[in-house]
Amino acid sequence: MAITPLMPVYPRCGFRPVRGEGAYLVSDDGRRALDFASGIAVNLLGHGHPHLTKAIQDQAATLMHVSNLYGSPQGEAFAQRLVDNTFADTVFFTNSGAEAVECAIKTARVYHQSAGSDRFEIITFKQAFHGRTMATISASNQEKMHKGFLPLLEGFRYVEFDDLEGARAAITDKTAAFLVEPVQGEGGVRPASDAFLKGLRALADEHGILLILDEVQCGVARTGKLYAYEHYGITPDIVASAKGIGGGFPMGACLATETAARGMVVGTHGSTYGGNPLAMAAGQAVFDVILAEGFLENVTALGEKLTQALQQFIGNYPELFVKVRGKGLMLGLVMTHETRAFVAHLRDNHGLLTVAAGENTLRILPPLTIEQSHIDEFIEKLSAGAASYEMPAAA
Ligand SMILES: *Cc1c(COP(=O)(O)O)cnc(C)c1O
Repeated sequence: MAITPLMPVYPRCGFRPVRGEGAYLVSDDGRRALDFASGIAVNLLGHGHPHLTKAIQDQAATLMHVSNLYGSPQGEAFAQRLVDNTFADTVFFTNSGAEAVECAIKTARVYHQSAGSDRFEIITFKQAFHGRTMATISASNQEKMHKGFLPLLEGFRYVEFDDLEGARAAITDKTAAFLVEPVQGEGGVRPASDAFLKGLRALADEHGILLILDEVQCGVARTGKLYAYEHYGITPDIVASAKGIGGGFPMGACLATETAARGMVVGTHGSTYGGNPLAMAAGQAVFDVILAEGFLENVTALGEKLTQALQQFIGNYPELFVKVRGKGLMLGLVMTHETRAFVAHLRDNHGLLTVAAGENTLRILPPLTIEQSHIDEFIEKLSAGAASYEMPAAA
């Protein structure tokens, strides 16, 4: 038998974490690494945060799961908190990001179709990542995710990211919604321009179509705002949220206005696990921390410090680094060449965890609870990594 018991769909590296301590991960062979990847923007509060851990422990001992056929005081309370703090009037809880995006797509289609319209098409943007289900791979133009899984789901049109004229030109009488990441994550940490998101909002209003934001990666305090749309002065119709929302507990949410959710009536959608009491306890604990006074401001301040430190540092290595981009603590270091070998070098030789994104971007996604000392340590490790790095020969 050649296949591994764990289905071999990931190129797993030799670093095998068995314990987490704040901003550090410890591997089964005793190596300790500074975690500036956070499980890809998931562990917002780092590892083993006492408030989150205790909330999960207490809830696990009290009530873990009940069917969505019963009333949910836990779900109502967390949904109310999201409604109170965002544009949304209503929330559907999921177990992952892809499911949150799926719910967003269904919400947009049924918004039109429940009113007798046959609009179904969703305009999405190149290099987007929306998840790995059939609908969410169909929503991305990235052929490497499609190969072998055809046919795709119908009804998606891809336009260049940040190209408002392209988006306008793609609208037809079948268009139901735009679906866009305010800051593309997997695509290379690319923030949308102000003009682009404001322009999409205006186009949506003009044509009676919905604006869906995929904030699975950039949402939940990562950029220094609770949700990234707040940077742009716009109000979305639907937002998909996940990753950081449970601080490491698997959960997601689809947030919508009352109008956008008009078709989501009894019997149209569901999830066995979605919104279970354990997930709600995790979400509440994360929100207790990130909504505390000064937390978001601190993320912004840390993001500025980290950006400045990076900008200073890359001046020493023009042959390796091009620029820094991103918002808050969602940063991308654009490199002159393919990034994966450098990510591996930092991990294996310097005890520093980062993530590659796009072709040539190093993603920096620390826990939002880091302190100045972690930024200093990060820059030290990155400097040592850059100094000892042998650039692979150009392909
Ligand atoms: C990670 C991600 C998803 C998918 O989330 P899963 O929990 O892996 O299903 C969707 N959209 C964006 C922007 C993401 O970063």
